[in-house]
Amino acid sequence: LSLAKELAAIVGAEGVLTEAGDLAAYASDSRIEGVPPTVVALPTTVVQVQEIVRVCVARRTPLIPRGAGTGTVGGATPAAAALVLDLSRMNRILAVDRDNLLADVEAGVVTGEFQRAMEAQGLFYPPDPASSDSSTLGGNAATNAGGLRAVKYGVTADWIAALDVVLADGQLIRAGVRTRKGAMGYDLARLFVGSEGTLGVITGLTVRLLPKPAAKQTVLGLFTQLPQAGQAALAILRGPVTPAAMELMDATAIAATQGRGGEALPPGLHALLLDADGQPDAVAAEIDILAATLRDHGAAEVRHAADQAEADRFWSTRRSLSQALYSVRPQRSADDVTVPVSRLVELIEGVARIAEQADVLQACFGHAGDGNVHVNLLYDPGDTAEVARVKRACEELFRLTLALGGTLSGEHGVGLAKRPYLAWEQGPTLIDLQRRLKRALDPLNILNPGKVLP
Ligand SMILES: Cc1cc2nc3c(=O)[nH]c(=O)nc-3n(C[C@H](O)[C@H](O)[C@H](O)COP(=O)(O)OP(=O)(O)OC[C@H]3O[C@@H](n4cnc5c(N)ncnc54)[C@H](O)[C@@H]3O)c2cc1C
Repeated sequence: LSLAKELAAIVGAEGVLTEAGDLAAYASDSRIEGVPPTVVALPTTVVQVQEIVRVCVARRTPLIPRGAGTGTVGGATPAAAALVLDLSRMNRILAVDRDNLLADVEAGVVTGEFQRAMEAQGLFYPPDPASSDSSTLGGNAATNAGGLRAVKYGVTADWIAALDVVLADGQLIRAGVRTRKGAMGYDLARLFVGSEGTLGVITGLTVRLLPKPAAKQTVLGLFTQLPQAGQAALAILRGPVTPAAMELMDATAIAATQGRGGEALPPGLHALLLDADGQPDAVAAEIDILAATLRDHGAAEVRHAADQAEADRFWSTRRSLSQALYSVRPQRSADDVTVPVSRLVELIEGVARIAEQADVLQACFGHAGDGNVHVNLLYDPGDTAEVARVKRACEELFRLTLALGGTLSGEHGVGLAKRPYLAWEQGPTLIDLQRRLKRALDPLNILNPGKVLP
C-alpha cells in the first residue's frame, strides 16, 4: 500500500494532498523556502492524528506538524522528504467555561477568530501575535508566540492551562491542569510549549481567559530620532502605567506601509504606538499619563486615536509592517532579538551602526515593551554579495545581542534559520540535555527532524 493510500484510509481521500501544485504551497513557511513535502495529511480528529503518527513510525517517515505556516524561521518548512501534518481542519472551539475562565480548543483554531469569538462573549484571550489573522493556537503554543500585548499580559505560555499532545509513538497525553495552579510532577505542558513540533503534536489546548477589558484607548508618539522612542519606552516601563501594548516602528518600516490602508503618517518620523486598557475612567487617566511621558521624552507629535476606527488604522499599520517590507526588497532577515529592556536603546543604536557598516538597508520595529526588536535587513536573495553582507551583519547583531545580555529569539524560535546559532547562546551541557530529552520523547527522530537542535 502506498503512503498516500494508507493516509486516505485514515482521513479520506479529501484529506490527502499529493499533487505537485498542492504540495508546492507547503514548501515554505512565511519566509524560509525548502522542498515540497512528499504528501500532506489534513486530519480532523485526534484519533486520525494518532493513526497518522503510527503510520509514520512504521514507515520511518519524518512528520512535520503545521498550523498556518506563518512562522518565520522555517519550523514548518520541509528541508528533506517528509509528511506535512496540516492541523488547520481541526479548528473547533470545543467548550468555554466562563466560571473558571477557560476554553478548550482544537489546535487549528485561528488565533484572531478565537479572540473575536471570546470578545463576542465578553471574554478576552490576551496573546496577540501580529499574525493573528492567520496563525493557529497550536502554532502559537508550539512557538510560544509573543505579540503585541505581551508587555502587560505575557506570552502564549502564560495562557496555557493544559495541552493535548500526541507523542511520537502515537499515544495521547494531557499535560497540565484545569485549576488556576498545579504542582503535581514536572511541568510537561510547558515542555511542549515552544518545542516547534519536535517533541509531540499538539492537538488541543485548554487556554486561560480574562473578562474583556471594558475600555481601550490608543496613543501614538512620533519622534525625529529612533533612540528617543526607545528612551520614551523605558520611561513608560518605569512609570506608574503598564501599557496594554507598546510597539516601536522606525521611519523606514512606516514608509513601506504607506498607501496600504493603514494610517497616513509623516515621512521620516519614528513611532511608538501604545494602548491602555481596563475600566473607562482608569484608561482615560492612564492614556494621559502615557501621552505626557511621550511628550516629556521628546515626541515631536502625540496623536490620540479619536475613535475605534482611527485606533484600528494605527494598528493596521503596525500589523502590515512585516509584509510591507517585501515591497522594499524581495527578502528580509526578520530577526527577533531580545534584550533586557534597560539595554533597548543600545540595541537600537547598534543595529543602525551594524547596518550602516555592512552597507545594508534595514528597518526595525517590534515589541519595545519586551526589549524585542524585529530587525529586518532587507536584501535581494539573487545578489550574492548582498546576501554575504547580510549574513555578516546578522552575526554581528547576534554578537551584540548576546553582549547586551539578550537572547537571539524572543518569540519566533529556532526552526532551521537559528539552528546554527543555538550554540552561540547555550552551552554544550544545556544543548546535550535537550538532545537527550528529544531522544527520550522521539527515539526514532520522526517529529520535525533537523530543526531546533544543531
Ligand atoms: C506578519 C507576521 C507577523 C508575526 N508576528 C508575530 C508576533 O507578533 N509574535 C510572534 O511570536 N510571532 C509572530 N510571527 C511568527 C508566527 O506567526 C508565529 O510563530 C506563530 O505562532 C506561528 O503559528 P502557525 O500556526 O502559523 O505555525 P506554523 O508556522 O505552521 O508552525 C510553526 C512551528 O510550530 C510547529 N507547529 C505548528 N502547529 C503545531 C502543532 N499543532 N503541534 C506541534 N507543532 C506545531 C511547526 O512544526 C513549526 O515548527 C509573525 C509572522 C508573520 C508572518
